[in-house]
Amino acid sequence: MTIKQQLVSTRSNTYGESNPCNYITIHETANYSKGAGAQVHANLQSNGYSASWHYQVDDKAVIQSFPDNVQCWHAGDGRGKGNLESIAIEICVNLDSDFKKAVENAVELVKNLMIKHNIPLNKVVQHNHWSGKDCPHNLRNGYKGVNWNTFIDFVKRAPNGNKPVTVMPSTTEKGPAQSKPSASKPIQTTTMKSESIVDWMKANKMDSSYANRATLAAQQGIKDYKGTAAQNITLLSKLKKEYKPKTTTSKSETIKSGSVVDYMNSEGMNSSFANRKKLAGQYGIKNYSGTAAQNITLLNKLKNSKSVSKPKNEVKTNSIVDWMKTNHMDSSYTNRAKLAQKYGISGYKGTAAQNIVLLNKLKDK
Ligand SMILES: [Zn+2]
Repeated sequence: MTIKQQLVSTRSNTYGESNPCNYITIHETANYSKGAGAQVHANLQSNGYSASWHYQVDDKAVIQSFPDNVQCWHAGDGRGKGNLESIAIEICVNLDSDFKKAVENAVELVKNLMIKHNIPLNKVVQHNHWSGKDCPHNLRNGYKGVNWNTFIDFVKRAPNGNKPVTVMPSTTEKGPAQSKPSASKPIQTTTMKSESIVDWMKANKMDSSYANRATLAAQQGIKDYKGTAAQNITLLSKLKKEYKPKTTTSKSETIKSGSVVDYMNSEGMNSSFANRKKLAGQYGIKNYSGTAAQNITLLNKLKNSKSVSKPKNEVKTNSIVDWMKTNHMDSSYTNRAKLAQKYGISGYKGTAAQNIVLLNKLKDK
């Protein structure tokens, strides 16, 4: 068998390095999302997940995250023998992994570790043994065609180290030469620090509630969202992908030379070249010829002047209606359109700019 190493260098989520390797603890990831296999869980640990375990196994790979002598944090028994004296193996249950094959790989790994550390079969235990948790869930219940007794039986019958073990040395912790793991690192480093999807969403002023994350997960094709770490990693990277283009798009929209016209139109302003030239003059833009750079400057000036002039004139977009109501006037659109026409505002559509003009006219009256 081949054990790929992707060793975590920090010990911050462990109890130290004095594991006597007296036991082997079997877990299942309980993460059924497609793609949430050994590599995803190894990455999770590489990026500082708050719990830790030594090996993760799926139908294709065995990946080691911590040397056997590390006391990982997985058993739910605090400073008990589960955390301090056992080697933890997570069997992946993602739906696109062949569970029986993953179990076979786990069996081989268990056998291997038993021989290496002289661990007897009766010390190959379930996570349940330490904390009472229903883990490994499928093995305990036989849900995927293989139960705990069968698993132990497989281990018993597995060849005694006949198969050579190849250890593929660590790929992540050895510097920038390896492109694959380090390429995924920057995204996930930020991702997994302190369950950071919530932080990231908050930072981006998004609703980070479980309900909203579940909705977004569904939109992003993440099935059965339960808020697991792996699902959160997937969701966060999808959100980031979506979020980034959005920011760039809106920026580039602003910069598009044509957008001053759009902006003026949306504000009910006369966006003709002549008027833009006039405004440009007012704002100190010399020799306006409608270049992109001039339009950007003009647009910014218009936007700034809008936000400045707003409070000065005490004109909130919607306030015409309020003002009319206070003055016992009919504030319906029909009546406003009629009044607009009366005051020479042509093509009244109820835009903010038109309402401002109309309100001023009404007040002047
Ligand atoms: Zn477990």
